[in-house]
Amino acid sequence: MHKIGNRTNPAESPCIPAVVRRDHRHVPVWREDELQRRLYQAEARYRALTEQLSIVTYVAAMNVQGSFTYISPQIEVVSGFKPKEWLADNRLWLQRMHPEDRRRILPMLGKAHRGGRNFEAEYRLLDRAGRAHWVSDESRAIRDEAGQPLFIQGTLTEITERKRQEQESAGQGRELMLSRSELEQFVSIASHELKAPLRRIVNLGELLASHCRSRLDAEDAALLDRMKGSATDMQELVAGLAEYAEAGPRTPLSAIELGRVLKHVLKELEGPIAFSGARITSGPLPTVWAEPTLLEQILSNLVDNALKFRSKDPPRIHISAERLGKDRIISIRDNGIGIHPRQTERIFSIFQRLHPRGEHTGVGLGLAICKKIIDHLGGRIWVESQPGEGSTFHFTLQAANREYQA
Ligand code: ADP
Repeated sequence: MHKIGNRTNPAESPCIPAVVRRDHRHVPVWREDELQRRLYQAEARYRALTEQLSIVTYVAAMNVQGSFTYISPQIEVVSGFKPKEWLADNRLWLQRMHPEDRRRILPMLGKAHRGGRNFEAEYRLLDRAGRAHWVSDESRAIRDEAGQPLFIQGTLTEITERKRQEQESAGQGRELMLSRSELEQFVSIASHELKAPLRRIVNLGELLASHCRSRLDAEDAALLDRMKGSATDMQELVAGLAEYAEAGPRTPLSAIELGRVLKHVLKELEGPIAFSGARITSGPLPTVWAEPTLLEQILSNLVDNALKFRSKDPPRIHISAERLGKDRIISIRDNGIGIHPRQTERIFSIFQRLHPRGEHTGVGLGLAICKKIIDHLGGRIWVESQPGEGSTFHFTLQAANREYQA
């Protein structure tokens, strides 16, 4: 690393002696030839400094694009053209700019300098052999005291390697997305394939139990029941996995009235609602962009959880919505057992349950499915809760019109 700091130390600045800075009474008066000598010295130092940097520095005339009055020798490394070739031909810059980038860059450049703003852009320069080099160009107009632009000063930095890395990681991202959808396809096929043998195990277990129940002692009968129970759990897990892998939009989204979907969901959950003595209320609900079955899945999971994870009191559940710009936040509040704030992230991951299996039904997939669907719809889901104080699940969806539906 060059000691740039030492060279630019104001105390060492070539044309302004240190005494001027410290004590204005001792301003030295130089003769014309001394002043000239120091000016040359300063320019030589400036050149030495800029020409040691790996960036290209340049000075160009206003209003004539590519009309350089100075360009540092590093330009030859980037372009294969010597500085004097750049100074001699003001069409060279435009000619060597990649044709795909010209249309984007030229209007930006004119606008920035006319508007007195700095110009910053990344584009490709084609070298003498026609190879593309990505450069980052940063320049600004230097003005006189009256604010009139005099000339342009700027730098060009080669960023080909950075661009290559960016493109590579974008490519890897695409591959990752591909492999994720392949993985989902694999999980979906595998779980469907597993369903038939699992069903046979459960059926055979039941057959065995009915044939020899009378001949089994209590211990053997309990073992057989546990085996059947495990097979049934596995059926549930496998079905859940398929549901998770397949969750997401299948048809183009349309404007869906949330109120109607809620009505349908509450009808489906009539049994558990009546059984728990729950009271369910709702405020005005919006029309959102979604797919009816997906919305049904989300609401059904959230209301079902609010019924399942109840406290000693009968469940009180309220569904409401509020505006957030073009989005709507939909909230499902309950008075259930609540969740510790430390666990509020974890529950949206696959197979995460905070309560033992026997206490409540469910394999820990409902919220993961909700999250996956909402991610697909461009929204987000989160929960606010405290143990013993109930939970409020919120999710956002894009509103389909500006009016709330009654
Ligand atoms: P499950 O299939 O177990 O219902 P979910 O993914 O729907 O799975 O929920 C994950 C866990 O989050 C649940 O097992 C439960 O511990 C907790 N949970 C979900 N909803 C609520 C709620 N409304 N109140 C308290 N805990 C909840």
